[in-house]
Amino acid sequence: MSYGSPSGLTPREIKSYVRPEQAAEKGVKAVLSRDDIRRHLTSEMVFDGDRLPGFSDTIEHREGLVLVDTGMIDTTPAVEEDGEEWHPYPLPDELVRRVAVVVNTHLHFDHCGGNRLFPGIPIHVQRRELADARTEDDYTVREWVDFPGATYVEHDGEAEILPGVRLLPAPGHTAGHQIVVVETDEGPVVLGGDVGHWFEELERGDTPGQQLVLELAAPTHLAHVAEVRVPHARS
Ligand SMILES: [Zn+2]
Repeated sequence: MSYGSPSGLTPREIKSYVRPEQAAEKGVKAVLSRDDIRRHLTSEMVFDGDRLPGFSDTIEHREGLVLVDTGMIDTTPAVEEDGEEWHPYPLPDELVRRVAVVVNTHLHFDHCGGNRLFPGIPIHVQRRELADARTEDDYTVREWVDFPGATYVEHDGEAEILPGVRLLPAPGHTAGHQIVVVETDEGPVVLGGDVGHWFEELERGDTPGQQLVLELAAPTHLAHVAEVRVPHARS
């Protein structure tokens, strides 16, 4: 494991953003495309012979690389309960170095386990989510949330954090869960986190978050499903 103790991390400066006019000079596209959004396997849970992958997403934005959920970089006995076996898949260093903005859909340990790689980097989360992670028992691995240099940017509801990158509260899986909607030249794309663990669950529309994603009717990423598709409400 290449990961050391949190105290071994050096704080880094918040990267300065590239202004649009500079982006034009550098030949960077002003509008995002579907190809600017990439998926990365960042964890895998093995239970009873079944494998559940966990994906993080990156958005190659002109103002810097956005990382949505940080997966896992190591594990701890606290999460290995009831026969669950968790395998961390840290992101490549090359990506980690370029991350300018982090978003957590929510703070369950398999979505925030890599947050410790980003001291001093803004981490966008709903205020409710952070409060619950800090106070509720058995919610997450709290040391993976609050680490030296953690720089949370808390939101009460909707927020456009960069041009074309919006956060929308999508409660259900957790009360403070949020999704990311990315505007591309082919229309919006939803980075849905755990709004549903699989599409069949999402399409039942049992939670406000699921109903929102069904209304958006856009290509949707779910954290634990490799396939990307447009969900349709089942009636
Ligand atoms: Zn979760």
